[in-house]
Amino acid sequence: MTFEDLNIIAPITQALKQKGYVEPTPIQEKAIPHLLKGSDVFGTAQTGTGKTAAFAIPILQKLYNQQADRRSAGIRALVLAPTRELAIQISESFSDYSKGLRLKHTVVYGGVSQNPQTDILRKGIDILIATPGRLLDLMNQGFIRLNTIEFFILDEADRMLDMGFAPDIKRIIAKLPAQKQTGFFTATIPDEIKSLADSLLRNPVKVNVAPVSAPAELVNQSVYFVEKADKKAMLQQVFDSEEIESALIFTRTKHGADKVTRDLIKLGIPAVAIHGNKSQNARQKALQGFKDRSIKVLVATDIASRGIDVDKLSHVINFELPEVPETYVHRIGRTGRAGESGTAISFCASEERGSLKDINKLLPRAIEVKRMNGFVASSHTALDMVAAERPERENTHNRHARPNNVKRPFQRKRW
Ligand code: AMP
Repeated sequence: MTFEDLNIIAPITQALKQKGYVEPTPIQEKAIPHLLKGSDVFGTAQTGTGKTAAFAIPILQKLYNQQADRRSAGIRALVLAPTRELAIQISESFSDYSKGLRLKHTVVYGGVSQNPQTDILRKGIDILIATPGRLLDLMNQGFIRLNTIEFFILDEADRMLDMGFAPDIKRIIAKLPAQKQTGFFTATIPDEIKSLADSLLRNPVKVNVAPVSAPAELVNQSVYFVEKADKKAMLQQVFDSEEIESALIFTRTKHGADKVTRDLIKLGIPAVAIHGNKSQNARQKALQGFKDRSIKVLVATDIASRGIDVDKLSHVINFELPEVPETYVHRIGRTGRAGESGTAISFCASEERGSLKDINKLLPRAIEVKRMNGFVASSHTALDMVAAERPERENTHNRHARPNNVKRPFQRKRW
């Protein structure tokens, strides 16, 4: 299957080639034809599956094809995303795929001055990517009207509700024209998502990729037992022994993120912390540096890391394990994206054993336990721990065995 097989027009396939996309991902293969035909789509897909392109490509193609007979007299497509980071990424994807199409898009989000955003809006745009809060602000001030919207995308709908955006979303939806095409994307389908989708979509085509709670399928996962005081030294050893192209390191606290960052810099490893105490500008600068590879390591707390999407992130390191087991799955899902394989390494101190147990319960197979020379956990011997945590069937010597997999949602080589 190629993008040409999906009837994607040449300027877009050219742009996709430039991005290095050879074949559509499963969600793209399934969703694009329906969106091109004009159907509403209800997509269940995790981030990392290529869902942004699954809606961005058909929107661009339809707007482009209808350009001649409908000179832009207002915003024609609206994409709503829960966080600024995600909104920015979506906007970057639109930039990537729309080269040569002469369609204008922009992104609005809170936490920064609105003036540069309203300047662009005044000049007229075709596609708007927005977070709910800032969008409502700008609507209330009269900078944005949604009565010309033809395409509406709600991305990561479950996360939006999680973040308390339900009232905002309802206010926004109320201002959209009845006649429009809608794409609704979510990773999970709790009851409130079902009812929101029911109220919004008309005869939607359901498109589903990958089991909802499965971890990223191509991530090679391992855990080291190490006491808190030794984690710094172990991190150094990991950097010495592993081929690390770029890593996202997770800590539980902002203070912890700052400390790990300082330690790495002392070791000569370029690292930046990204967390809620940093200004929006500092966060963006850090993300940019990470993307253009001038910064090799980003150290993040869970909240700050939401929406970080970097092509070819080779490693996720859990310097501390998360308390909420689902967070582990979100964390490691940052690597092994778009069919690339990735590595997730976790450090587990004695007091984190409970968290590890909970995480293992959530996974189809327990995380592979590894040992590093020179490190012994103090309260039990490392071997005891290995015996306690390792499921009987597991083969810890086979580094290349696909860990924690139920099944692959797609073949790596295929795209
Ligand atoms: P998303 O799920 O939209 O966040 O996309 C995850 C990653 O997959 C992004 O880094 C995209 O650039 C990449 N991607 C999307 N579609 C394709 C494709 N057809 N081939 C290769 N990479 C892709």
